Amino acid sequence: MFVDIANIHLKAGNGGNGAVSFHREKYVAAGGPDGGDGGRGGDIIFKADDNLSTLADFRYKRKYAAKNGEDGKATRSSGKKAPPLIISVPRGTLVKETETGRIIADISGDEEVVIAKGGNGGWGNTHFATSTRQVPRFAKSGNPGEELDVTLELKLLADVGLIGFPNVGKSTLISVVSEAKPKIANYHFTTLTPVLGVVRMGEGSSFVMADIPGLIEGAGEGVGLGHEFLRHVERCRMLLHVIDVSGSEGRDPIEDFNKINKELAVFSSELKDRPQIIVGNKCDLTDDSNVAELKKYFEDNGYKFFPVMAAIAEGTNDLINFVAAELKKLPAIKQYEPEPKPHEDFTVKKKRTFNIRACDGVYFVEDAPWLLEVMNTVDPDDYESLQYFERVLRQSGIIDALKEHGVKEGDTVSVYDVEFDYVP
Ligand code: GDP
Ligand code: MG
Repeated sequence: MFVDIANIHLKAGNGGNGAVSFHREKYVAAGGPDGGDGGRGGDIIFKADDNLSTLADFRYKRKYAAKNGEDGKATRSSGKKAPPLIISVPRGTLVKETETGRIIADISGDEEVVIAKGGNGGWGNTHFATSTRQVPRFAKSGNPGEELDVTLELKLLADVGLIGFPNVGKSTLISVVSEAKPKIANYHFTTLTPVLGVVRMGEGSSFVMADIPGLIEGAGEGVGLGHEFLRHVERCRMLLHVIDVSGSEGRDPIEDFNKINKELAVFSSELKDRPQIIVGNKCDLTDDSNVAELKKYFEDNGYKFFPVMAAIAEGTNDLINFVAAELKKLPAIKQYEPEPKPHEDFTVKKKRTFNIRACDGVYFVEDAPWLLEVMNTVDPDDYESLQYFERVLRQSGIIDALKEHGVKEGDTVSVYDVEFDYVP
């Protein structure tokens, strides 16, 4: 079965915890702290793989977790950082945040994209030794790795999309102009999964053609097959609209043409305005005057019309040469830009989770993944930014909770990667 949409859960690795340890050696009493730092948790990375053409694997495995970083150890040894988890997807896969539908990335290029970041490792107790605290009996926990639900959506990358009613000869056409070998048969819905074919023009120039399953009436409103496949032509720079000029099967090619354009318009207004070239197929089954009439009809309506007999590759060269020349004038294949996370105002009073752990005059604020998000936007060298951070701490109730735990002036407050002195 062709799968072009999937929902999965991602969990990047947590950072390893820092170690609490003291130097031990014969004859050396009470050595200093030597607990190492935790290693970074593994990222979750997405990458395009041209050997994949569907998202079927994601139907069966829905949870993906990268490894956690190793905890720090004695003798100042840091824990090992965890390797990234690399997830391969077909080229042209969009990664969206399931909750909001926001596009996080378009995996169309060759670069690897980090979708969920691993947490930083926590500091070992070595970092907490001061002149007044020579025996720090605590270390920092690692930061949590990012966790989110994403929806994968495959939108094929093709320059040219073939559209048209079932049985008009789309698969036949792609099979004679490219190396693609889709199933061809004289019955409807032979093509159930999109097929990509590379059309080589010589001298290293080529373009990609996509054969998608036939559209039927009501497809734009999601009735029957079609709707889900329309997204595969969304990126196409040009559409080849194939009609059966012989009107075999009792069809009227002009009526069919209009129906399909109506479907496209319902699906997306952008798609409706995509350049279209009309391919009049099965010319062998009708007389020349009928073909001439149709040609005139389409040209009067502003479309270029190519009469062909796809089955014997008659007329297909002219068509392909014209398409290649037109493509040169059109913009490149559409890439989807990532949509930024909407800015949440964390100074708005709202119940937010956190936990406070106090050790030796250090107050750790933990179990607050939302705060990690705030910290990513705070610039410690910027006064206004720090003021914002302080407001967040106040409004979320963290400051009150610190007081309840007995924090005093000069005590250290440790919030994930940041340490500061408490000033009442
Ligand atoms: P699709 O459903 O649009 O992909 O159509 P296919 O490519 O599977 O073709 C449907 C039927 O039309 C097959 O039996 C083909 O052999 C036939 N066909 C394709 N091109 C021509 C042509 O130029 N002339 C004739 N007579 N039949 C054709
Ligand atoms: Mg077909």
